[in-house]
Amino acid sequence: MNPLNALNGKDKALAGNGKKAGLTPQENRVFKFFDAAPLDWEDWCWQIRHRVTTRDVLGKLIKLTPQEERGIDGCGGKRTMSVSPYFASLMDPDDAACPIRLQCVPRDHEFARSPEEMTDPCAEDQHSPVHGLVHRYPDRALFLVNEMCATYCRYCTRSRMVGEGRRTLSRETYEAAFDYIRAHKEIRDVLISGGDPLMLGDRMLEYIIKTVKAIPHVEFVRIGTRVPVVLPQRVTSELVGMLKKYSPLWMSIHFNHSKEITKRVKFACDLLADSGIPLGSQTVLLKGVNDTPEVMKKLMHDLLKIRVRPYYIYQCDPIHGSKHFRTPVSVGIRIMEKLRGHTSGYAVPTFVIDAPGGGGKVPVGPDYVVSREDGKCLLRNYAGATFTYHDPADILY
Ligand SMILES: *Cc1c(COP(=O)(O)O)cnc(C)c1O
Repeated sequence: MNPLNALNGKDKALAGNGKKAGLTPQENRVFKFFDAAPLDWEDWCWQIRHRVTTRDVLGKLIKLTPQEERGIDGCGGKRTMSVSPYFASLMDPDDAACPIRLQCVPRDHEFARSPEEMTDPCAEDQHSPVHGLVHRYPDRALFLVNEMCATYCRYCTRSRMVGEGRRTLSRETYEAAFDYIRAHKEIRDVLISGGDPLMLGDRMLEYIIKTVKAIPHVEFVRIGTRVPVVLPQRVTSELVGMLKKYSPLWMSIHFNHSKEITKRVKFACDLLADSGIPLGSQTVLLKGVNDTPEVMKKLMHDLLKIRVRPYYIYQCDPIHGSKHFRTPVSVGIRIMEKLRGHTSGYAVPTFVIDAPGGGGKVPVGPDYVVSREDGKCLLRNYAGATFTYHDPADILY
């Protein structure tokens, strides 16, 4: 297929040439570096083909530090570097503390090992009855439909399986997963993730969604993705038109910093939200990226402005080579303390730790119940004032 067919009228209008499309100076710089034709920048297949994977190319776009150079040279195997030109254009060329750089440019810190670190911290493989499917909770299942992303996150909890691997799984693998869901009537919610499911073409993605949605006991599906953030060009009118047919379909988008919420990302999220897809966010708490209440609160506010409802903040999983990203649990609790009550309830997600060994998501947060005895529940509010609630006896309840 001609990749330009992926663009329809509206998307083409947005593409135009670099200037008309309203590209930022930095986007224009990257656009020019790749010597792209006017429509290329808006073509998601072009973005994928031109992902930045070498020190040579990245070194021409930004000023690499020695830590980054060593990181890129030393990362190999499945944890290769790969960044879409669009996402690379968000990097600050001179500031190594740029949150975009920290998330996707390898640093030599990754080579350190810590005893608590694991290959599969959430023990997904142990809860996988058939390849690609994780069935941990009673009524819902996680379906990992591919092993590829548009940009690799250095803290990826699935780095054991995600990399320059298979773009799709085999038909037999998909069929075995469908059969498992069909046979388990308790599954009412299927979370399609990966890799990144939006790396699949529209037809393959539709085949998966359609088949899952056709299972009578599946009430709804949701898609877990980072593509609208790292490759917003993928959210075409065709894609959205297809997804719309399978309503109710929910989408959880992985956002970590306000800097990711560009005009282009807003355009993609508007397309999704306008077609009736409820959007939620998932954020990983990362040292240096979003580990202060100020940065996190701004992110939550900026998400609400583009109609994305903050859903989860995750404590960073103990994946191999991620120690430099992990914050003390108290940092996350303090962030939650500064959100609840201080800002719109819609801007307050749930902070969770995915329990190592496969315990699932455990909510963690400040304690607002000071004591509960003698029929009295002593509460404290966000401002620290205490109040008593008369607590009905539960002995006969
Ligand atoms: C996160 C997750 C889900 C979905 O959990 P929700 O709390 O319902 O969003 C389902 N299965 C697995 C294995 C998960 O990790």
